[in-house]
Amino acid sequence: MITAHIPSGYVFGRLLQNSGARWPLILPAAVVGGILPDFDMIWFYLIDDRAFHHHRYWVHIPAFWALVAIAVLPPLALTAKRFLPAALAFFAALFLHLCLDTLAGDILWHWPWSNDFTHFVTIPAVYDWWVLNFVLHWVFGLEILIWVAAVWLWIKR
Ligand SMILES: [Zn+2]
Repeated sequence: MITAHIPSGYVFGRLLQNSGARWPLILPAAVVGGILPDFDMIWFYLIDDRAFHHHRYWVHIPAFWALVAIAVLPPLALTAKRFLPAALAFFAALFLHLCLDTLAGDILWHWPWSNDFTHFVTIPAVYDWWVLNFVLHWVFGLEILIWVAAVWLWIKR
Protein backbone atom coordinates (compact mmCIF):
# COMPACT_ATOMS: atom_id res chain seq x y z
CA MET A 1 0.00 0.00 0.00
CA ILE A 2 1.42 3.33 -1.02
CA THR A 3 -0.97 6.15 -0.13
CA ALA A 4 -3.85 4.87 2.00
CA HIS A 5 -2.37 4.01 5.40
CA ILE A 6 -3.32 7.29 7.08
CA PRO A 7 -6.86 7.23 5.67
CA SER A 8 -7.19 3.55 6.59
CA GLY A 9 -6.30 4.43 10.19
CA TYR A 10 -8.80 7.27 10.06
CA VAL A 11 -11.55 4.99 8.69
CA PHE A 12 -10.73 2.39 11.35
CA GLY A 13 -10.82 4.98 14.14
CA ARG A 14 -14.06 6.49 12.88
CA LEU A 15 -15.65 3.04 12.64
CA LEU A 16 -14.63 2.44 16.26
CA GLN A 17 -16.15 5.77 17.27
CA ASN A 18 -19.31 5.08 15.26
CA SER A 19 -19.65 1.71 17.00
CA GLY A 20 -19.85 3.43 20.36
CA ALA A 21 -16.23 3.91 21.42
CA ARG A 22 -16.21 7.36 23.03
CA TRP A 23 -12.63 7.61 24.27
CA PRO A 24 -11.03 10.78 22.87
CA LEU A 25 -7.71 9.19 21.95
CA ILE A 26 -9.20 6.40 19.83
CA LEU A 27 -9.03 8.31 16.54
CA PRO A 28 -5.48 9.70 16.85
CA ALA A 29 -4.25 6.33 18.15
CA ALA A 30 -5.74 4.57 15.11
CA VAL A 31 -4.28 7.11 12.68
CA VAL A 32 -0.80 6.94 14.25
CA GLY A 33 -0.91 3.13 14.39
CA GLY A 34 -2.06 3.08 10.79
CA ILE A 35 1.02 4.90 9.51
CA LEU A 36 3.75 4.28 12.11
CA PRO A 37 5.50 1.31 10.41
CA ASP A 38 6.20 3.41 7.33
CA PHE A 39 8.36 5.83 9.30
CA ASP A 40 11.05 3.26 8.59
CA MET A 41 11.27 4.93 5.19
CA ILE A 42 13.40 7.62 6.85
CA TRP A 43 15.96 4.99 7.79
CA PHE A 44 15.50 3.23 4.43
CA TYR A 45 16.36 6.34 2.40
CA LEU A 46 18.68 8.34 4.67
CA ILE A 47 20.70 5.67 6.49
CA ASP A 48 20.55 2.40 4.56
CA ASP A 49 20.46 4.06 1.12
CA ARG A 50 17.73 1.58 0.03
CA ALA A 51 20.04 -1.40 0.58
CA PHE A 52 17.30 -3.54 2.18
CA HIS A 53 13.58 -3.99 1.57
CA HIS A 54 12.07 -1.72 4.24
CA HIS A 55 9.56 -4.46 5.10
CA ARG A 56 12.50 -6.34 6.65
CA TYR A 57 12.87 -3.64 9.33
CA TRP A 58 11.47 -4.58 12.72
CA VAL A 59 8.62 -2.05 12.50
CA HIS A 60 7.15 -4.08 9.62
CA ILE A 61 7.44 -7.45 11.40
CA PRO A 62 4.19 -8.66 13.02
CA ALA A 63 5.99 -10.74 15.69
CA PHE A 64 7.78 -7.62 16.91
CA TRP A 65 4.52 -5.74 17.42
CA ALA A 66 2.90 -8.80 19.00
CA LEU A 67 5.70 -8.85 21.58
CA VAL A 68 5.38 -5.11 22.18
CA ALA A 69 1.61 -5.50 22.64
CA ILE A 70 2.13 -8.38 25.07
CA ALA A 71 4.62 -6.24 27.02
CA VAL A 72 2.52 -3.06 27.03
CA LEU A 73 -1.15 -4.01 27.23
CA PRO A 74 -1.29 -6.01 30.50
CA PRO A 75 0.60 -3.40 32.57
CA LEU A 76 -1.54 -0.69 30.98
CA ALA A 77 -4.70 -2.60 31.90
CA LEU A 78 -3.50 -2.77 35.50
CA THR A 79 -2.13 0.74 35.96
CA ALA A 80 -3.77 3.11 33.45
CA LYS A 81 -6.95 1.43 32.32
CA ARG A 82 -8.33 4.63 30.77
CA PHE A 83 -5.64 4.45 28.06
CA LEU A 84 -6.30 0.81 27.24
CA PRO A 85 -8.92 1.42 24.49
CA ALA A 86 -6.59 3.82 22.68
CA ALA A 87 -3.70 1.36 23.01
CA LEU A 88 -5.85 -1.43 21.61
CA ALA A 89 -6.88 0.82 18.71
CA PHE A 90 -3.22 1.68 18.13
CA PHE A 91 -2.10 -1.95 17.95
CA ALA A 92 -5.12 -2.99 15.88
CA ALA A 93 -4.34 -0.20 13.40
CA LEU A 94 -0.71 -1.35 13.30
CA PHE A 95 -1.85 -4.83 12.32
CA LEU A 96 -4.29 -3.32 9.82
CA HIS A 97 -1.26 -1.58 8.28
CA LEU A 98 0.62 -4.89 8.05
CA CYS A 99 -2.43 -6.63 6.53
CA LEU A 100 -2.86 -3.90 3.94
CA ASP A 101 0.86 -4.10 3.12
CA THR A 102 0.47 -7.86 2.66
CA LEU A 103 -2.04 -7.38 -0.14
CA ALA A 104 0.56 -6.45 -2.75
CA GLY A 105 3.70 -5.95 -0.69
CA ASP A 106 5.73 -8.41 1.32
CA ILE A 107 5.44 -8.94 5.06
CA LEU A 108 7.38 -11.34 7.28
CA TRP A 109 4.34 -12.97 8.90
CA HIS A 110 6.26 -16.18 9.65
CA TRP A 111 9.30 -14.54 11.26
CA PRO A 112 11.19 -15.75 13.39
CA TRP A 113 10.47 -19.23 11.95
CA SER A 114 11.02 -18.11 8.36
CA ASN A 115 12.55 -15.14 6.57
CA ASP A 116 10.22 -15.62 3.60
CA PHE A 117 7.85 -12.83 2.72
CA THR A 118 4.11 -13.31 2.37
CA HIS A 119 1.94 -11.39 -0.09
CA PHE A 120 -1.46 -12.03 -1.67
CA VAL A 121 -1.07 -10.45 -5.09
CA THR A 122 2.04 -10.27 -7.26
CA ILE A 123 2.26 -7.04 -9.20
CA PRO A 124 4.15 -7.60 -12.43
CA ALA A 125 7.03 -5.25 -13.25
CA VAL A 126 5.67 -3.82 -16.48
CA TYR A 127 7.05 -0.29 -16.15
CA ASP A 128 10.56 0.85 -15.24
CA TRP A 129 9.28 3.13 -12.47
CA TRP A 130 7.91 0.81 -9.77
CA VAL A 131 5.25 3.32 -8.68
CA LEU A 132 3.49 3.00 -12.06
CA ASN A 133 3.32 -0.77 -11.63
CA PHE A 134 1.34 -0.26 -8.42
CA VAL A 135 -0.78 2.72 -9.45
CA LEU A 136 -1.88 1.11 -12.72
CA HIS A 137 -2.68 -2.26 -11.13
CA TRP A 138 -6.21 -3.14 -9.94
CA VAL A 139 -5.08 -3.34 -6.29
CA PHE A 140 -4.64 0.42 -6.31
CA GLY A 141 -8.44 0.54 -6.56
CA LEU A 142 -8.54 -0.54 -2.92
CA GLU A 143 -6.45 2.47 -1.99
CA ILE A 144 -8.88 4.71 -3.86
CA LEU A 145 -11.81 3.09 -2.04
CA ILE A 146 -10.12 3.70 1.34
CA TRP A 147 -9.53 7.35 0.41
CA VAL A 148 -13.16 7.74 -0.68
CA ALA A 149 -14.37 6.18 2.59
CA ALA A 150 -12.07 8.43 4.63
CA VAL A 151 -13.15 11.60 2.86
CA TRP A 152 -16.81 10.58 3.15
CA LEU A 153 -16.45 9.93 6.89
CA TRP A 154 -14.53 13.18 7.34
CA ILE A 155 -17.26 15.18 5.58
CA LYS A 156 -19.94 13.44 7.65
CA ARG A 157 -18.19 14.03 11.00
ZN1 LIG B 1 4.10 -0.30 5.45
